[in-house]
Amino acid sequence: MLDYDLHCHSNVSDGTLTPTELVERAAGRGVTMLALTDHDDTDGLEEARAAALRHGMAFVNGVEISVTWRKHTLHVVGLGIDPAYPPLVEGLQQVRGGRSARAQQMSDELAKIGIAGVFQGALKYARNPNMIGRTHFARYLVEAGYCRDVKSVFNRYLVTGKPGYVPHQWAQLAEAIKWIRGSGGVAVLAHPGRYMVGKNSMGKKTMTELLGEFVSLGGQALEVVTGSHTTEQYGEFARYADQFNLSCSCGSDFHGPGESYRDMGRLPDLPLRCRPVWQSHSLK
Ligand code: AMP
Ligand code: MN
Ligand code: MN
Ligand code: MN
Repeated sequence: MLDYDLHCHSNVSDGTLTPTELVERAAGRGVTMLALTDHDDTDGLEEARAAALRHGMAFVNGVEISVTWRKHTLHVVGLGIDPAYPPLVEGLQQVRGGRSARAQQMSDELAKIGIAGVFQGALKYARNPNMIGRTHFARYLVEAGYCRDVKSVFNRYLVTGKPGYVPHQWAQLAEAIKWIRGSGGVAVLAHPGRYMVGKNSMGKKTMTELLGEFVSLGGQALEVVTGSHTTEQYGEFARYADQFNLSCSCGSDFHGPGESYRDMGRLPDLPLRCRPVWQSHSLK
């Protein structure tokens, strides 16, 4: 029985393990096909692929692109991408380019409520300073004693409506899909359930409009099983996939030991009605 994990992070973005350590952990936990999907960056793919080869594991080049659609931030995973495809390289470079200034603004906002020096503190957690993001902020705020874990930092400081939240303009949905498809990859809408919770979240009508637009722009799959979905959401998004004729993907969205909803390996099976993305597309 094959064990697929098509969404996870290394320390090239906001995971804590190196690409090699991540692959070793996946292999040790029974994963047989892995996609590394760092945010807005493909720098870890070569190292991860080499490690996967040593472990006899099938490896898929991936990326998770940050997108702004209407007032929502979405994540679009690309599977089987060519990381050398120039429009993808340039597009990701542009997306990363905004992160540093945003981080400085987040730090300024936190300073206003008496939490100083967060930019410098967070930088220690970002292997690549251009990839600095909210997770690095959260790790530093835990270290500095403001909260007991990363999750609580997000809830208290870093999500919409909280003092350290700074709205940001990411890639457009159409561009992200074009970069992925143009490079030979499959475009997957990541963790759709996450867009339907919290302040300013979308309702069913907007989700339906999003999926319609996603498909018309060339989107091909929906992440149905992911660490942040409940069992009910597996069913709910399997039905959306049916309705929009999308393939289905699954991945842990693992970021590091002790920090994620789910560890790597042995995810629940996709619901039976799903057409798995690895069957409808050849992933390399
Ligand atoms: P950024 O790209 O800098 O906005 O950071 C987004 C990342 O923050 C996501 O990929 C998750 O790793 C993490 N994240 C977002 N929301 C939460 C949350 N509520 N709890 C924990 N981590 C979160
Ligand atoms: Mn992340
Ligand atoms: Mn995501
Ligand atoms: Mn992710």
